[in-house]
Amino acid sequence: MKNTLAINGGKPVRDSYLPYGKQFIDAEDIQTVINVLKSDFITTGPTIEQFEKQVADYVDAKYAVAFSSGTAALHGACFAAGISTNDEVITTPITFVASANCVLYQNGKPVFADIDPETYNICPKSIREKVTNKTKAIIPVHFTGQPAKLDEVLKIAQEYNLIVIEDAAHALGSKYKNKKIGSIGDMTMFSFHPVKHITTGEGGIITTDNEEYYQKLLQFRTHGITRNLENLIDNHGPWYYEMQFLGYNYRMTDIQAALGISQMRKLDSFICKRKKYVKIYNEKLKELPQIILPKQLNDVCSSWHLYVIRLNSTLLKVDRKGFFQALQKENIGVNVHYVPVYMQPFYRQLGYMPGICPNAEKIYKDIITLPLYPGMTEKDIQDVISALKKVISYYSKS
Ligand SMILES: *Cc1c(COP(=O)(O)O)cnc(C)c1O
Repeated sequence: MKNTLAINGGKPVRDSYLPYGKQFIDAEDIQTVINVLKSDFITTGPTIEQFEKQVADYVDAKYAVAFSSGTAALHGACFAAGISTNDEVITTPITFVASANCVLYQNGKPVFADIDPETYNICPKSIREKVTNKTKAIIPVHFTGQPAKLDEVLKIAQEYNLIVIEDAAHALGSKYKNKKIGSIGDMTMFSFHPVKHITTGEGGIITTDNEEYYQKLLQFRTHGITRNLENLIDNHGPWYYEMQFLGYNYRMTDIQAALGISQMRKLDSFICKRKKYVKIYNEKLKELPQIILPKQLNDVCSSWHLYVIRLNSTLLKVDRKGFFQALQKENIGVNVHYVPVYMQPFYRQLGYMPGICPNAEKIYKDIITLPLYPGMTEKDIQDVISALKKVISYYSKS
């Protein structure tokens, strides 16, 4: 991965390659995991419940159900919401494929609403245009950690009797008008993949205040099986359990939950670090007309999963691909979030065509994600800034 020659044949800004995102694991995390490995339960034990309670408390939700991944959690939420054949679910194309795939898992149809060209979040006006009598739910994604316009999303949902499942994979610790993300929509998903705010290796969770969803999620996570005496249809004796619908094995292990518990204790300090680095990026990059910095709204608080800049291509002699490669040659691990979901070959095969969301397709051409994670040092941030300035001055028009 490491480059020894920069774009102009000179020395790169950095000697070592800086990834765009990375987990932060310390001795306390490791010890917490070891303790569970030495205990009686390494899966479906008390550690899972402890982790679920910790996350529910943190986001001000009544219930939380942990899953083997954020994607599995989204699948669970679509099941609990009753999404089935021919139901339409509205989401954004500027997201990871899982936000739409979870609808396909339930044989529903993802419908893509366009984004706001400034925040890159789903646009309520476009949602309204896409609602039909088949629409069953909306999956807003809090892109980069900045909450989508939830008041307007909830208003549309109320008007048309739709369920709101928030994809908050980027937004653990974010706030919308002083309410924690995780306490607002019908169900909210968080992911614990290593690049997200905290990690369990792989893992995800749904938070909700709705007891019916909570019970369905618990059962869906374990094959559709229940041992709950009150809900049994039959009862053959003390060994008896019942599979009442088709579920999956989507359980998280206690080993993962232990890591999650230890990581949650550091979440606020992780977010602080991210905010501090964003402030430096904002301050040091604001005078470069060749790039457009992330638009921050006043009534929300982002926990900053990603820092996404947009190239002002009219001022550059290079396209996004060339700019991206130049930063890579400086050993800066950049990324692009995301290829609009419906442009993926599989979605094209399903019949989705380019042109569905013009704003999404337009910004996709110019966006680049800069490295941002709590394990970075201020020197790392400075290197990213130096590399950006170097590449901009090399490719600047005039
Ligand atoms: C990471 C992510 C997911 C999926 O989470 P996994 O835990 O990787 O399955 C879903 N949606 C978005 C927006 C994500 O960034």
